[in-house]
Amino acid sequence: MLKYKALRGTQDILPEEMPLWRQLEEMVGRKMKFYNYREIATPTFEHTGLFVHSTGADTEIVEKQMYTFLDKGGRSLTLRPEGTPPVVRTYIEHSLGMKKPLQKLFYIGSMYRQENPQAGRLRQFHQFGAEAIGSIAPALDAEIIALFLDICEDLGLKELSLQLGSIGCPGCRSPYREKLLGFFADKDDLLCDDCKQRHQRNPLRILDCKNPSCRRITEDAPSMLDYLCDDCGPHFQELKAHLDALDIHYQINRRLVRGLDYYTKTIFEVVSPQLGAQDALGGGGRYDGLVEELGAKPTPAVGFAAGIERILLAMEKENCPSPEPCHPKVYVASMGEEAKRLAVRLLQKLRTQMVSADTDYLDRSLKSQMRAANNLKVEYTVIIGQEELNKGKALVRNMRSSQQEEVGIEKLCDYLVEVLNQNQ
Ligand SMILES: [Zn+2]
Ligand SMILES: [Zn+2]
Repeated sequence: MLKYKALRGTQDILPEEMPLWRQLEEMVGRKMKFYNYREIATPTFEHTGLFVHSTGADTEIVEKQMYTFLDKGGRSLTLRPEGTPPVVRTYIEHSLGMKKPLQKLFYIGSMYRQENPQAGRLRQFHQFGAEAIGSIAPALDAEIIALFLDICEDLGLKELSLQLGSIGCPGCRSPYREKLLGFFADKDDLLCDDCKQRHQRNPLRILDCKNPSCRRITEDAPSMLDYLCDDCGPHFQELKAHLDALDIHYQINRRLVRGLDYYTKTIFEVVSPQLGAQDALGGGGRYDGLVEELGAKPTPAVGFAAGIERILLAMEKENCPSPEPCHPKVYVASMGEEAKRLAVRLLQKLRTQMVSADTDYLDRSLKSQMRAANNLKVEYTVIIGQEELNKGKALVRNMRSSQQEEVGIEKLCDYLVEVLNQNQ
């Protein structure tokens, strides 16, 4: 019996899986650089109020999913369930807006939500995201979307669909909200328990409900897109024109709402048909009111967040190429105390010369050391036995051609560096 197991909804990343994660992170970092987004890191926990006031008290995340606890000082703290509120908090706290009128930032990190674990949905999961704070330009919305899709494409994902909508602004959303309330007025009995409760407070959330009965009812519900004001309507048109110019295909989703309160105008989701029910790889939108909501002067902004576990799952389903595993280049096999000391010295010399190398620490026979070298898929094995030692030499075996050569002990390191360079 195992004494301890990883908590439900958490997951270990094993050495075999790590290269894939590193490749993804590297690719994200590289793309972000091309679009001039700079990396930022924020703490994993924050004051609970930050999320209540930004993500929204009525949202599923804040109502049901946050890991909230009191610290020893009696303060209520929360493990971040999403990346946007901490980034905006940082933006305000460090007056980043004074340093640059438009801040383009990105992050990669772990997030925490107490959900029912299922495929691609974990309690500790990882996201990367970008936030562009300081401009209302629809071209910036288009850039954020293009950036997200560009990263997915680079990772090898092909079968994606971009769901696009607009959630309006407080000005046009309130008449729409009235319309929606009217629409649901005589349908209360047909709604699920959650929706019955959220009906009065936030009828828009019903559109996001996954319950089949709720979904059926909302099919004929009025759409926000028909109620956009003179500001939000043209903004949406302009965004679509930019996406057309970029040859980015999108589906207008008339009932798209995102499970977060701060969105205004543009909202979008990137969906993979490979993933079944949990099909969103990520999404985002505009949040023009959030900076002001958190206490600074009104500043428009737009961003996205993408789920790394979901993306890796989609990559697996689409058979995207995964990186070659890393192998050391040299294995040093040795027999006897004196040879071992030489082996250890050679190892260290190789490593300082930027050659990856390893040896045996299990006191195994020469035969099983050779087997270990084979399994490690090294390019060269150095064999230092008593016989060679007496001659002041060692055997260097090319593992691909099986050719062996005697090389003087003192010249070993230079010799290996040279042949490895030639092979590259
Ligand atoms: Zn509006
Ligand atoms: Zn419902």
